[in-house]
Amino acid sequence: MLLPEYRSKELLAKYGVPIPPGFLARSSNDAETLCARLNTSRYVVKSQILAGGRGLAGGVKIVDTPSAVGAEVERLLGHVLVTDQTGPRGEIVQSVYVEAALDIVDNFYLALALDSATGGVMLLASEKGGVEFEERARMDDTVYGTTIIGEDTPEERKKIKAFLSEHGMGEDAVVDLAFAARKGFIENELTLAEVNPLAKTRRGDWIAADAKAALDPNAVFRHPEFEEFAHLQHRDAIEAEAQANDINMVKLDGTIGVVVNGAGLGLAMHDMIIEAKGRPANFMDIRTTATSLKIAKGVQLLLSDPNVRCILLNVHGGGITLGDTVAEGVSVAYGHAKRKVPLVARISGQNADRGLAILKEHRLPVEVVDTMSDAVARAIALAS
Ligand code: GDP
Ligand code: MN
Repeated sequence: MLLPEYRSKELLAKYGVPIPPGFLARSSNDAETLCARLNTSRYVVKSQILAGGRGLAGGVKIVDTPSAVGAEVERLLGHVLVTDQTGPRGEIVQSVYVEAALDIVDNFYLALALDSATGGVMLLASEKGGVEFEERARMDDTVYGTTIIGEDTPEERKKIKAFLSEHGMGEDAVVDLAFAARKGFIENELTLAEVNPLAKTRRGDWIAADAKAALDPNAVFRHPEFEEFAHLQHRDAIEAEAQANDINMVKLDGTIGVVVNGAGLGLAMHDMIIEAKGRPANFMDIRTTATSLKIAKGVQLLLSDPNVRCILLNVHGGGITLGDTVAEGVSVAYGHAKRKVPLVARISGQNADRGLAILKEHRLPVEVVDTMSDAVARAIALAS
């Protein structure tokens, strides 16, 4: 389970790994104001997606003024970033991290990984870090050395210093950094802690310019401070699954599962539910290319959410997505579901009658309503 960069850095810094000062930006205005705290004249603006390769994809920008920081945050936040490692669909940038830029003279690679053979901690090092490391990794031409790093004793420090020297990092500061990272690795039950690049600055300091930590998913329950990231990853997986089935979905925390075709209708539905004091469990827009089996998959994702107490189906059968196609999808999903929550259905437009007939034939726990406001009122009543 990966932690985003800012959280990975915070974790490592707690054990003594040097990182640049930074802050998480929730909005461009915030970002511009908070820049004053960093006490610098150059800033790095970094999208906090979980995949790497951001540098080459425009997800890491170096700028000179707080207003430029604001503009970059605006450009990144809420937008999809496609990198070498995200796959073609990309990842939505949900947060942006701003740091004081480093004056980097050389980029190194340093990582700790769990050695599954011995259960020990493996130290990986390379003189060619940063983007160059990623490019070589892509070409299967990565050169890095490995050794097992044991507990911090005088003999072990000597061994690690000699190992790091072979990779251009034989300074005490880097030895300290490696043992600090090892302590964080063990105490948090990590499976990976990667610093790439480990930057050597003009002043001769060694600082983690980028970091990535992965927790053992089976041990997360012992580290509740990271649970929010587990939720995020679960949510991402659900949204990706919906995407793979031609459905645009955004998971929310409410109790009413919403099945709607068309983004505009979806937004209207969302606003009406909120206005009536209900809580949607998702936003959904079924794309016109979705077949009934794909729609079934999307509805299954809602039915398997334990928060969902009712499903609100609102379809306007148009030129391409027909009322009966959606009704078939919903029926298939209910057929497979263990939990069959009440369904409120409003279908209008093309093949509406056939759609409603299908829901009844399959003996779904359905209430049919005529208007959108009735649908919302009934769904809220059933979900409470
Ligand atoms: P990644 O591409 O997702 O791994 O993102 P990184 O955080 O590694 O950033 C990509 C590249 O931007 C790094 O390899 C560095 O070369 C460069 N970079 C990142 N932070 C700084 C900085 O503070 N100063 C300078 N000069 N370059 C930076
Ligand atoms: Mn990196």
